[in-house]
Amino acid sequence: MKPAPFRYHRAASLDEAIAALAAAGPDDEVRVIAGGQSLGPMLNLRLVRPTLLVDIHRIDGLRAIDVLPDGGVRIGACVTHAMLEDLPASDRLPPGVADVLRHVAGGIAYRAIRCRGTIGGSLAHADPAADWPSALAALGATIELAGPAGRRSVAASAFCLGLFETAIEPGEVVAAVVLPGSAICRWGHRKHCRKVGEFAHAMAICIDRGGEAVEAWLGATGGAPVAIALDRAALAGIAGGEAQRRAGLHERIAAALPDSIAPGDAYARHLHAQMAAEAVNDILANR
Ligand SMILES: Cc1cc2nc3c(=O)[nH]c(=O)nc-3n(C[C@H](O)[C@H](O)[C@H](O)COP(=O)(O)OP(=O)(O)OC[C@H]3O[C@@H](n4cnc5c(N)ncnc54)[C@H](O)[C@@H]3O)c2cc1C
Repeated sequence: MKPAPFRYHRAASLDEAIAALAAAGPDDEVRVIAGGQSLGPMLNLRLVRPTLLVDIHRIDGLRAIDVLPDGGVRIGACVTHAMLEDLPASDRLPPGVADVLRHVAGGIAYRAIRCRGTIGGSLAHADPAADWPSALAALGATIELAGPAGRRSVAASAFCLGLFETAIEPGEVVAAVVLPGSAICRWGHRKHCRKVGEFAHAMAICIDRGGEAVEAWLGATGGAPVAIALDRAALAGIAGGEAQRRAGLHERIAAALPDSIAPGDAYARHLHAQMAAEAVNDILANR
């Protein structure tokens, strides 16, 4: 199928994009388009029929990765998954951060999709099976939104509200993702896909900055990412070798899995617990 007719505005700056969104008429249905990797198929299938598309993909300021004076990292909304996958090895970013970004980005879909799809588009789309929502929540990121009333920041952990639902207000655009400047000691990220390049059925990520609790963020839960906090000392006390530790982790995490995750689906719940156990094990095994 082909999309229903729409008007198209390519914005040269973020201010121009916000003005174009604000100037839309009362009968307009306006959409931002970034990489088009999710919106394109939805337009073609006529699942959405916007009357106006505001294209932000070529706004230079949205395609930059900057290190902030406090050591944090600001990633423009139109930075593609491929740009993050290809991050060069350098001492610009806090230790460990580039490794996590490269790993998560490189596991998204196929290279062709990663070359167009953007981090901001992925967040705004809020597909529960997408990789960035849980990864950025685990990384302690904040999402910078720009709109007619100015700029505001929302914690990534509070940004995705549910299935395709976010904290974005009408007229707002995701401008950037800001990561904290602290180093990452250890991390683990696991996802289960039936086929390489497919959306995951379960995923989990742990970012270890050395606190008393180990937090596993679960994605692909059917809604917003879910956090499970585990006591580090209790986990470290699981007796036995590698196999016993993994079985013990699985048992504890399965017991802590909220009822809201895949209720009544024992296999899906097993997968979620298993991905979380593997991600936590990566941290405990000091990988
Ligand atoms: C076959 C296939 C497999 C995929 N597999 C995965 C996967 O394994 N993991 C994964 O994470 N993703 C996957 N994706 C999705 C991919 O990562 C997309 O890049 C992403 O979901 C959307 O990014 P985009 O830049 O293309 O956004 P677009 O398609 O341009 O937009 C998506 C939505 O977000 C809105 N939007 C876009 N940018 C902004 C912004 N800056 N501010 C406000 N609203 C905005 C648009 O209005 C639209 O509603 C897959 C996609 C395909 C087609």
